Amino acid sequence: MFSNQAITICASKYFDHHQIQELHRKGVVHFGENRAQDLLKKQEMLKNLPIIWHFIGHLQTNKVKDIINQIEYLHTLDRISLADNIQKYRFTPLKCFIQVNLTGESQKSGINPENLAQFLIEMKKYDKIEIIGLMTIGQENQLEITEKAFIKLSQLATLHGLKEKSMGMSDDYELALQHGATYLRIGRKFKELLE
Ligand SMILES: *Cc1c(COP(=O)(O)O)cnc(C)c1O
Repeated sequence: MFSNQAITICASKYFDHHQIQELHRKGVVHFGENRAQDLLKKQEMLKNLPIIWHFIGHLQTNKVKDIINQIEYLHTLDRISLADNIQKYRFTPLKCFIQVNLTGESQKSGINPENLAQFLIEMKKYDKIEIIGLMTIGQENQLEITEKAFIKLSQLATLHGLKEKSMGMSDDYELALQHGATYLRIGRKFKELLE
């Protein structure tokens, strides 16, 4: 779906459990939620379906214990205090992407690229965190800036020997694929698949 080079995650914040069920019937297996409460509610409604759950939103430190054993991937590791809480509550190593802010927007989460090397070193001491790659979010309605961010994310991943790149949404996923995305997070465009 959308690509055979990358895994497509349905960013399901727009969809209720009926719609998720329908998308699952159409072959979507990966779903990503942004809010802890929504994740828990939808998982409760959909517990009989073999869904692979991702968390793709900003994760508040005080929500970690509620959801951290309910997901297979976290896309938004962006600070040490979050790592500390994951280490405290998670039972088995969690696949994580480090979120990097590559558009310079101050209201956006993500670590500064200059701090990535040091952050990666610090992550080695957490045995409940498995860093599999990097994640970034483009800038809305700014395809040139977004493309630069995607190129930079690929370079950083290569530099640090990280295979996975979580980048690309409904409006920019083709650009992300051109620059080596391995996980797409697509929301609104999935509406086209629903009746
Ligand atoms: C909502 C969301 C997406 C998907 O956005 P669309 O533009 O609807 O495809 C991807 N990533 C994150 C972190 C999101 O919150």
